[in-house]
Amino acid sequence: MKCPYCTSTENKVVDKRETPEGSSTRRRRECYQCRKRFTTYEHVEMADLYVVKKDGAREPFDRNKIKRGLLKACEKRPLGPEQIEQLIDEVEAEFRNREIAEINSKEIGEVLMNKLKKMDKVAYIRFASVYRDFEDITDFEKELNELLRKRTGK
Ligand SMILES: [Zn+2]
Repeated sequence: MKCPYCTSTENKVVDKRETPEGSSTRRRRECYQCRKRFTTYEHVEMADLYVVKKDGAREPFDRNKIKRGLLKACEKRPLGPEQIEQLIDEVEAEFRNREIAEINSKEIGEVLMNKLKKMDKVAYIRFASVYRDFEDITDFEKELNELLRKRTGK
């Protein structure tokens, strides 16, 4: 968290409160270097969502990872990056609205599959054929690459 006046990263929190909607935390900070005070807003729910993988490991929810896999599944299909972005938005909002800190990677995959099914059958089949074996959204991108390579004979 950089000081907006001197760009120092050394500061302390002097006051902290939740916004009325509870969606973010407002922090009043004081810079150690120039002693000026500034306010930061942190979207707590953005930082607090974790994915629990099949092997029990936890990692922060990473929409870019999901996006890469979906883009791969949608290669040469009518679904463009914008629609994929929107799909991930929907899924992410769905999880965040539950106000939970952890989601199963398996569950993410199921939700994505259900939505993809309605959007593009081929992309859905590609996604599902790899995903069902691995049940892990975070690792399936590589496998999907291999599957597509085999099918196209490259
Ligand atoms: Zn400063």
